[in-house]
Amino acid sequence: MRIKWKLTLWATFLILFLFLAYSLSQYVVIQNWAANQETKTVQKTMKEVTAYIDEMPSEQAISESASYLEVLNEDDQTIRLINDNDKTVVTIADDADELRPPKHVTEKNLVKANQEDDPLLIYKTPVETGEFSGTVEITRDIEDYESLFEQIGMVVIIAGLAAVVLSFIGGRFISSQLLKPINSMISTMKKVKENGLKERMPIKQKQDEMAELGMMFNELMDNLETSFQQQQQFVEDASHELKTPLTIIHGHLSLIQRWGKDNPEVLERSIQLSVNETDRLTHLVSELLTLTKGQNDSSDVSHMESSQVKQKLEMLIENYQLIHREFEIRPHLDFDTGVTLKMSQNHFERMMIILLDNAITYSEDDKVIDVRARQTAEQLTIDVTDFGTGIPEAEIPFVFRRFYRVDKSRSRKHGGNGLGLAIVMDLVAMYNGTIDIDSRYGEWTTVTVTFPG
Ligand code: ATP
Ligand code: MG
Repeated sequence: MRIKWKLTLWATFLILFLFLAYSLSQYVVIQNWAANQETKTVQKTMKEVTAYIDEMPSEQAISESASYLEVLNEDDQTIRLINDNDKTVVTIADDADELRPPKHVTEKNLVKANQEDDPLLIYKTPVETGEFSGTVEITRDIEDYESLFEQIGMVVIIAGLAAVVLSFIGGRFISSQLLKPINSMISTMKKVKENGLKERMPIKQKQDEMAELGMMFNELMDNLETSFQQQQQFVEDASHELKTPLTIIHGHLSLIQRWGKDNPEVLERSIQLSVNETDRLTHLVSELLTLTKGQNDSSDVSHMESSQVKQKLEMLIENYQLIHREFEIRPHLDFDTGVTLKMSQNHFERMMIILLDNAITYSEDDKVIDVRARQTAEQLTIDVTDFGTGIPEAEIPFVFRRFYRVDKSRSRKHGGNGLGLAIVMDLVAMYNGTIDIDSRYGEWTTVTVTFPG
């Protein structure tokens, strides 16, 4: 069953239940009260009549004082005196044919009876006075009272039926009000499915929970759209980057096919260049893999003691020094002991390799690289400084972008894909660190990474 109908039914039942409970209890209370009132009237008359008759010496005296009893009587009421032979002594009534045959009683009793469809309340009390022994009988016609309650009952039933209809309409209204934002969300989602991620939910001015839900949904869609666009951009850029080396390799292979077989010089050169390009491809693909894998892969987070960080740095510097003998790589490692860096060793190494690679790649004649590390209780800071090309100030914010290279042709010559810093950026962010670049174009560049302690 749809929520719309569930809500409608629940609201209908609830409203109906409340209405019926209220009217029924009101009906019962009023009915009891009115019935009590009727009985009280009869009892009051009875009290007055018996008190009066108690004063009477004989049956004779009683039958003569009928006019006084008439004063005591009320509307819709008959007073009758019956002697112990079941004979009527006095009858005071407007309508005597309602009465049942006279009957003497020995005990008080109050009964409800029907005489020719007329509801009656009959109260009998035995009396003993002087020579007279008999029964006072008061009969009250409660037809008005009964018909009043029949009418009230009818009103309750009709109102109940109206309540069913009204509460159904009300329930429908409540449910449609509640479900409006959800329906609009559903239709937005349908549109998203048909027309793409551009669609948004219309937001009302009202500051209620539903508006909040709508806003959340829209924000979510914004994020989704952005990340979708980024993904698309990434794939486009990646394909573009992959295409260049492939085109070059294709070119060389065609060259070899046409002339290379007979010309060892062309053959040699083309093969060499193709090998270079395949190296490039391998490097690019492994970087792409790192980028896509990097974000999810913080499983092997180990806590590196400061001594380990220091060791790792020393080892890396030593290796680089060994490979790049023309460079002078100068470590300045200043560590407090007993502080840990929460980072996987692999990630740490990868980050340092990218930074050192850049420093070496973009150095010029001044082949000196400074690696500075400081660790305090609050943070670990590592700087890598080279004295090479530098980065123009305006370009610094862009170098973290994927595939961004300051000097395309130059960077390509070095085999750069423009992914290194993007990878470092991701890695650093994964461990809540920050990365900064300070540079003077043509003079020096310092890349600083900082991690909380
Ligand atoms: P790769 O993906 O192979 O690292 P890349 O070195 O071109 O390629 P990044 O490391 O992300 O890519 O660097 C982006 C750009 O920033 C580089 O192309 C270069 O222009 C500039 N750059 C990075 N480091 C330095 C540096 N130390 N000195 C001068 N320019 C730099
Ligand atoms: Mg690089």
